[in-house]
Amino acid sequence: MSDYLWVRPANLTLPDPDENSVEFWEGLKQGKLLLQVCGVCTQTNYPPMVMCSGCAGFDFEWREAEGGGVLYSYVVTHQPIHPSLVDYTPFLTALIELDEGPRVTSNIINIAPERAKIGMRVKLELFQVNSEITLPLFVHE
Ligand SMILES: [Zn+2]
Repeated sequence: MSDYLWVRPANLTLPDPDENSVEFWEGLKQGKLLLQVCGVCTQTNYPPMVMCSGCAGFDFEWREAEGGGVLYSYVVTHQPIHPSLVDYTPFLTALIELDEGPRVTSNIINIAPERAKIGMRVKLELFQVNSEITLPLFVHE
């Protein structure tokens, strides 16, 4: 569909899962985007939090997202904001609104940044960086 080739900057720092997010990162390794759902008020929290932002509850369950969504907003960065990004501009940072509601900051990896359009359909595309970290990225459908 596109000849655009997204490349992950090799020297960017990777996420460091903590006790609140380890299940989320384990889910990604197993091919699932897990959302943290509050057992008290049913609000979905993203990213995973120690306490529900809706009711201050601490009782959560994990629910797998279908992986579909729309481009809610985005920014195209032209100036490298970190030395590791010098050879990777311009790049698109996307705010994806999942069909389940939460908004995820990520990348759309199969379109050039100038082709991004608010409202375009996207779907989850997992990107395994190493044996510990898989990133939730997206492709335009
Ligand atoms: Zn809650």
